[in-house]
Amino acid sequence: MKKFKLVTLLGIRPDYIRMFKLIKLLDQNKDIEHILVHSGQHYDPELFGVFMKEFNIRKPDIDLGVGLALKEKGVSNHAYQVALLSERVFDMLEKVKPDAVMYLGDTNTVLSAVTVSRSGYPVIHLEAGGRSFDWRMPEEKNRIVIDHLSDALYSYLPRYKELLLAEGIDDFRIKVIGNIIVDAVNEYMPQIDTSKIMEELGIKSKEFIIFGLHREENITNKEILENKLSDIARFAKEKNIPVVWPMMPRTKAQIEKFGLQNIIDQEIFIKTKPLGFFEFLNLEKNARLAVSDSGTVQEETLLVGTPCVIARRSTERPETIWAGATILEGFEGKDTLYNKMNEAWNMKTDWDRNVLNPEGGSPSERVYDDLIEKTKENYFETSRNFETLKGNQLVKIAYGKPFGK
Ligand code: UDP
Repeated sequence: MKKFKLVTLLGIRPDYIRMFKLIKLLDQNKDIEHILVHSGQHYDPELFGVFMKEFNIRKPDIDLGVGLALKEKGVSNHAYQVALLSERVFDMLEKVKPDAVMYLGDTNTVLSAVTVSRSGYPVIHLEAGGRSFDWRMPEEKNRIVIDHLSDALYSYLPRYKELLLAEGIDDFRIKVIGNIIVDAVNEYMPQIDTSKIMEELGIKSKEFIIFGLHREENITNKEILENKLSDIARFAKEKNIPVVWPMMPRTKAQIEKFGLQNIIDQEIFIKTKPLGFFEFLNLEKNARLAVSDSGTVQEETLLVGTPCVIARRSTERPETIWAGATILEGFEGKDTLYNKMNEAWNMKTDWDRNVLNPEGGSPSERVYDDLIEKTKENYFETSRNFETLKGNQLVKIAYGKPFGK
């Protein structure tokens, strides 16, 4: 029997954190030729190498090297990134000729699904159906593009599937699997709990705030960035509690560019380089409060029982708010970060920690089992056949009804 050739194409830190288990499951299946491709969006050892080591993920078979190539050219915008990625993904497809290409999430890397699909290869998308309905958010565009090009979509929760159905995506393509971040947090809790990071930083459990900021909406405008940093500094000084801040290189560069170092040089900030997952999760778990614009941190803090202020205008993951585990900062000008931190300070932490994976078990295993089933029934060869599409409500509208008679 011919092996199913599957390319998994990932690009940034949380992709590998979320996918570690699925990568391993696919690697050990003898009927699958699993090719791991790194887009190179993140390439620093601190944003890539450390996670490969911690999760014991093998070296990618192919590194498209996009991030480094652009750095050498001195450009960093999305247009150049996507253009180069498209070129390199196209060449990779010509060489590898996969049976399908799998993606996760909503980064610029997923925009290369246009090239994959346009070249006639099936697309698989994990984290499908996340929507913030905030058109200012770059990732919202990426999500919509990849979901509508995908042959198979894996959604974290039933609500995500409902959104996809409402957009006209076929029911049979979408499977709800639970949120796969649960696998990383559950499987590595012993390593997380034994991390020595608090000792190294000289801090104590429940006596610090963990902070992170890296999204475009927060770091590209001087006034917004200044407001956020001033708010967090003001709050921390009032409570006399340090703010631990593993800084992303891009955020650091923006602070320097805007001349805001005087705010972050205050003693209340304990700044570090980006940390490993075990160290960072240990800090998330032991913090009194988290403040972050990360998508993943909202979920992880819910799992480990720490209140979190989502330092953003909107979120595609409101289930963490409904659970009572997070508070959304909201729209700038109306609700400041400072006010929301005050609100979150005395939040109860007895929320239901199962809301991200209500069925229990391993979401990665559910994706794996379903994918294997699909390869066995030649799903990817037929999923876009005209015959298969006949049942789609939009096809019926396009062709009039009754269709096919
Ligand atoms: N993380 C980490 N070290 C750090 C900061 C974050 O390991 O210093 C992890 C964090 O636990 C989460 C992921 O990186 O799993 C979040 O990545 P990021 O915020 O870059 O991406 P997003 O979730 O916003 O897509």
